[in-house]
Amino acid sequence: MTEIWQKTGRQWRLALCTMMIAAALAAGPSCTPSFASAPASLEDVLTAIAPPPSAEALVLIPDRGRKLLALRSYVRSGAALAQRWSWTDAEIKAFAGSPGEQALLAEVNAVKAHFNDANPGHELYVHGTTRSLDEQIAKWNSNESVGAAAAEMEAAFTAAFGEAGAVPDPKKLAQWLRGYQPSKRPNLAAPGMTLHGRASAIDFQVMKDGRIYAGANGKQVESIWRAEGWDQKLKASITAAGPSFVGPLANPDEPWHYDYHPKADASLATAD
Ligand SMILES: [Zn+2]
Repeated sequence: MTEIWQKTGRQWRLALCTMMIAAALAAGPSCTPSFASAPASLEDVLTAIAPPPSAEALVLIPDRGRKLLALRSYVRSGAALAQRWSWTDAEIKAFAGSPGEQALLAEVNAVKAHFNDANPGHELYVHGTTRSLDEQIAKWNSNESVGAAAAEMEAAFTAAFGEAGAVPDPKKLAQWLRGYQPSKRPNLAAPGMTLHGRASAIDFQVMKDGRIYAGANGKQVESIWRAEGWDQKLKASITAAGPSFVGPLANPDEPWHYDYHPKADASLATAD
């Protein structure tokens, strides 16, 4: 219950709007004179079919193709989305300095120490423990691989539902989104869905001479990570010093990304 009272004004307006549209769509135009005279916009339909709490991210993605691509992921997750949704700013704040964060940092530092010892002249770098939703949305709105997949999806959407201005039937659109397969996956998870948003994943990058040398960059997977064996060197340090890390991520291929699954945490077990 307390969670409800923590909603921001923006979230409340969105939730209310979504409920009204969903109710109107379910009831049909005969019960909703305002919709009969002025049909819902595409934007309204997209917001209405977005499973909670994804509508709050959707409104911050202006490009239609990028919006459709994100909504595809949300619709496919359905009701499970809420459990993996990125932390709010308040939750991120609460995690900072907590025993949970201290345990994560201790393990990150142990991996770093092992790696730095084993690879003189290089050091491991970790940007942070949590990636905020705003940060994820900014990346989604600018990332090239997302742009390419979004352009492809927008063309497919237009072919299926007609030119801009057409408002598809929400049920048909949801079904289409669930079935749509992009020819090439973007190298980012849709905003809100990455484990980085809940301090449950870490990207380890290699630095040399104070600069990122092997980064969290899809273009360096073969040319640097594999060619120079950094994938194996990192894996060796994880195996030696990071028992809670699982990975690396295989799909998409990210040798720097490890999920974090802490074992039964005594401090959490006694918290309530
Ligand atoms: Zn990652």
